[in-house]
Amino acid sequence: MPSNSTTNYEDRSFIIATGNPGKRREFEKLLADFLDPRWKVYDRRSFPQPLQEVEETGASFRENAVIKAMETAQATGCGVLSDDSGLEVDALGGKPGIHSARFAGESATDEENNRLLVERLRDVPAAERRARFVAVVCLALPNNRVGRALLARSGVVYDEVDSAAPRAPEELVRIGELVLIWFRGTLEGLIVDEPAGEHGFGYDPHFFVPSQGKTLAEMDGEEKNRISHRATAVRKMVEFFDSVR
Ligand code: IMP
Repeated sequence: MPSNSTTNYEDRSFIIATGNPGKRREFEKLLADFLDPRWKVYDRRSFPQPLQEVEETGASFRENAVIKAMETAQATGCGVLSDDSGLEVDALGGKPGIHSARFAGESATDEENNRLLVERLRDVPAAERRARFVAVVCLALPNNRVGRALLARSGVVYDEVDSAAPRAPEELVRIGELVLIWFRGTLEGLIVDEPAGEHGFGYDPHFFVPSQGKTLAEMDGEEKNRISHRATAVRKMVEFFDSVR
């Protein structure tokens, strides 16, 4: 029976495919007005079935975000939002990049990653420590209530995605029964030796934002959510979906 004639459990469920509590908190705030209050929203930990860890086998933030969204949507039948993010340091040739979470080793802590970052930049003068955070958010939308409702908000009809593609060729594709859409955001800054601030997570205490005169960890959640890489990617997504409302 086609899924649009019944109301299945997965029809009203939406998964934010992150297990990172810092990212989950940011997404909850950023998506507060985007998600329909009638949907049940889960993350990887709260989803009622065990979700297999998705291996990040991609060579870019985009590939990893797409893999995570696609595999989670295929395993559950739910609409899924994933992200992949990290830090690119110019003086390190773009490292740690897609390996940011495990820069100092497979199960490295934030402190260990930060220590290694400062150590690698020991001989690099302050002015040459340019870096950026990058985030790619990806939606995987099945042909169900959530998927059709979201696509309709952008004026795209599920069955016509192929012909709608030229509208945003690098952002919207259909693979089998899933429509995949992604958006990218960046934030420029400088890496500082001395950590500052108590907020945020990951590399935030060492990431100085010149336009704000402080590190990301010195900004509260609201301030960070106005300028962050994840916020920019999510804002683009919200603008895309609400373009015809
Ligand atoms: P992911 O879970 O594979 O996307 O790993 C992202 C990693 O990049 C995190 O574990 C952090 O180390 C780093 N990262 C991404 N976004 C941020 C941020 O907003 N602040 C600090 N570190 C971040």
